[in-house]
Amino acid sequence: MELINTLPQPLIAVTLFIFGLSIGSFANVCIYRLPKKQSVFFPKSYCTTCSAPIRPLDNIPVISYLVLRGKCRDCNNNISATYPFIEIITALVLLAGFFKFGLTFDFLVYVLVVPALVIITAVDIKHQIIPNVITLPGLALGLVAGSYSIGYVNSFMGFLLGCGLFYLVTLLSNGGMGGGDIKYIAAAGAFVGWQKALLIIFISAVLGTFVGLFQIVVQKKTRKNIIPFGPLLAVATLITLFHGNLLIKLYIENL
Ligand SMILES: [Zn+2]
Repeated sequence: MELINTLPQPLIAVTLFIFGLSIGSFANVCIYRLPKKQSVFFPKSYCTTCSAPIRPLDNIPVISYLVLRGKCRDCNNNISATYPFIEIITALVLLAGFFKFGLTFDFLVYVLVVPALVIITAVDIKHQIIPNVITLPGLALGLVAGSYSIGYVNSFMGFLLGCGLFYLVTLLSNGGMGGGDIKYIAAAGAFVGWQKALLIIFISAVLGTFVGLFQIVVQKKTRKNIIPFGPLLAVATLITLFHGNLLIKLYIENL
């Protein structure tokens, strides 16, 4: 750590951004394959239209997409712009974390959390599920990392609160929120503790109200096809990671 900290910050930032793009590229593979229950390691990346394997030089995040002008080299079909978009978003969110936390233990955990949030957001929007492959390891990691950074009592209380509260909400709301959301909030609670778990629930509910109203009033959607809860939880988690301490302090001071 000491040695890395002597490197110029712009150099670290650029390296992390490129690293973020490749994590985003891996997230893309997960987003496509996890809902189909396919391995994310084998086979190597292939075109989703013609199944031709993608050449290593055509598999460079963002750059290959630009060079190929968004078309498969083999079948000439369009490659979705979602791929480079997700790579760039992942890299930016990762970089923001570096500027917030520096090269600390919290940042190391953050590096693992970011792709999970990206995958959950995209998969939930596309398939209305939050995969267990993400939430269950997240629960375990949350309890380990949480115990180290906030103490095991708080970590376990965050986990319990997540389970309890969301179970209650699910019972009362008959639909809208699913088991995946409960597992997610329990995992997030284990990472951040019970106070911030409450904050995540609160922020996502507020976001959900605004986004839901917008979709029903402006986009004329019915209550059935408005945005799922996963992306809101992911955004609320990021807000909490970045500004949770401040928001909780403001809340306590203004009680
Ligand atoms: Zn193709």
